[in-house]
Amino acid sequence: MVQEAREVDLLVAGAGPAGMTAALVASLEGLDVLLCEKSDQVGGTGATSAGTLWIPGNSQSKAAGYNDNAEEADRYLSGLVGEATYRELRDAYLKSGPAVIDYLTGRTDVRFLPCGPHPDYRNNIAGAAFAGRAIVPVPFDARVLGDDFHRVRAPIPEFMLFGGMMVGKPDLAPLIGRFQSLNNFIYAARLFARFVADRLRHPRGTRLMMGNALVARLFYSLRQRRVPILFNAPLVELLHNSDGVTGARIGTDGKDVTISARKGVVLATGGYAHNENFRRAFMPQPVPQYSMSFAGNVGEGVVAGERIGAALAHKDGASGLWAPVSVTTRRDGNKGLFPHLVLDRAKPGLIAVNSAGQRFVNEAVSYHDFVLAMFERNETTPSIPAYLICDAGFLDKYGLGIIYPGHRNPRKFVDSGYVVSADTLDALAGMLDIDAAALKATIARHNGFARTGTDLDFGKGETDLNRFNGDPQHKPNPCIGPIETPPFYALAVWPADIAVSSGLAADADARVLDKSGRHIPGLYACGNDMASVMAGSYPGPGTTLGPAMVFAYRAAMHAKTRAAL
Ligand SMILES: Cc1cc2nc3c(=O)[nH]c(=O)nc-3n(C[C@H](O)[C@H](O)[C@H](O)COP(=O)(O)OP(=O)(O)OC[C@H]3O[C@@H](n4cnc5c(N)ncnc54)[C@H](O)[C@@H]3O)c2cc1C
Repeated sequence: MVQEAREVDLLVAGAGPAGMTAALVASLEGLDVLLCEKSDQVGGTGATSAGTLWIPGNSQSKAAGYNDNAEEADRYLSGLVGEATYRELRDAYLKSGPAVIDYLTGRTDVRFLPCGPHPDYRNNIAGAAFAGRAIVPVPFDARVLGDDFHRVRAPIPEFMLFGGMMVGKPDLAPLIGRFQSLNNFIYAARLFARFVADRLRHPRGTRLMMGNALVARLFYSLRQRRVPILFNAPLVELLHNSDGVTGARIGTDGKDVTISARKGVVLATGGYAHNENFRRAFMPQPVPQYSMSFAGNVGEGVVAGERIGAALAHKDGASGLWAPVSVTTRRDGNKGLFPHLVLDRAKPGLIAVNSAGQRFVNEAVSYHDFVLAMFERNETTPSIPAYLICDAGFLDKYGLGIIYPGHRNPRKFVDSGYVVSADTLDALAGMLDIDAAALKATIARHNGFARTGTDLDFGKGETDLNRFNGDPQHKPNPCIGPIETPPFYALAVWPADIAVSSGLAADADARVLDKSGRHIPGLYACGNDMASVMAGSYPGPGTTLGPAMVFAYRAAMHAKTRAAL
């Protein structure tokens, strides 16, 4: 094995949103930084994400007229996670969040737009906001990356049209209604023309949105500053002595590189989502079989930290941030996962039932809360998988999972096994092995709620979040409609983590702590490698990327102040 040695100020492991932010800030602050990435692309799970950041009091929203502040967000978090939980980290997060975003937008190509209305997920808790806390990356034209475009991990195929065209939320209405107005038609035609032109030169469309725009913007900014990035270069182990962490060993093809890091090492390897031991130790039983995290995130940063005495922080029963997913079959025959985040569950005319044919949740709650209800009900009645049930009218108007609204050939999804379909509820129940009388009784009761507009069982449509994702044109309740027009459809959904919330214990500057609560000099963790400041709760859109980038910034800023070893 060939040995090589290098020396830098700061070594960052993992080129997801957290690691790229840490490396970018460290470089802007004048540090000699090296970013090592295990795979041959940047982006990690961040590349496939929606890219939303929850930053209370951010200036982008303020400039758009939305008033919010850290005190209100703190009140909300106190109600949600407890007054004292991670107090020091929470104060740091809320205090520095807007400044971190301003720093990045002022000095790099990372840019954000305010989402405007985008309700917090538990808006019955004091301090929750309806608007102004969430920001999203400005779409990015990846043509400026040139040959480096292939270094940006692609979104999941389920999030792209025609095998490579990204669309964002604002694109959906004009695309779905492309034959309904001239403006829509022109909009859709332009998107398509751009995509066709892209495909002549690139493997996919270059108009990047959401999380893909975020990671591409971070990567472009790193390239602009000529920050060195080693690809196919996983962090293998940390080097340390009595003064703390002094560097790391990086495994690259055919040679081991020993990096001495004068100011420290930042672990940003995306957490342990694909590490079976950690899953068994931390996650609910039976351990969920699906994860939407990047497959390479096997907890190497967490294990490296643990090996030199770092503590893990874990709040009981709160190990992941969850979404219900349906299982797709991709063009190449491989299986994929589609997360049911905001498009279908809250719309009128859909219910979720378990194996007993009973509803167990307000279907319009956040994806995280939906899965928590699956776990809870599963303890008494098998509720994994659960089934989303709708009728033909719903499917045509709102779509279901990967079946987009107005799809001309829903039969193909039945033939592929994605959904099951039947002309009667008796037959549908039979196909799902559910008691037909129970399913029919559930649907009859629900259809009664559709007429009165009041869901007496679970309150669907009663919160701002429910209504925000419902159909405002539908009366009397934007989230409840009858299920009555055959054929009927059922789609199985399973719990999957979109992020893990337990990880290395760290302080407000992202310094990793040992088991007695003392920081390990020279060792930082951020993103999913760091235990979540939200303690496993999901306050609103952007709960993981917001803290990932804020604590990455704080890690780099702290490392700058350290005396070089
Ligand atoms: C469908 C979906 C939508 C989501 N939407 C949102 C959203 O809108 N807002 C939000 O806040 N969160 C969202 N998330 C969650 C969010 O994407 C993740 O929490 C976030 O990407 C974590 O960032 P990270 O930098 O810690 O890890 P990652 O983005 O996973 O990056 C980790 C990187 O580390 C690399 N790596 C792994 N091991 C090593 C090693 N040993 N050495 C070097 N490199 C290594 C990996 O290859 C990878 O590139 C979503 C997730 C999914 C799946």
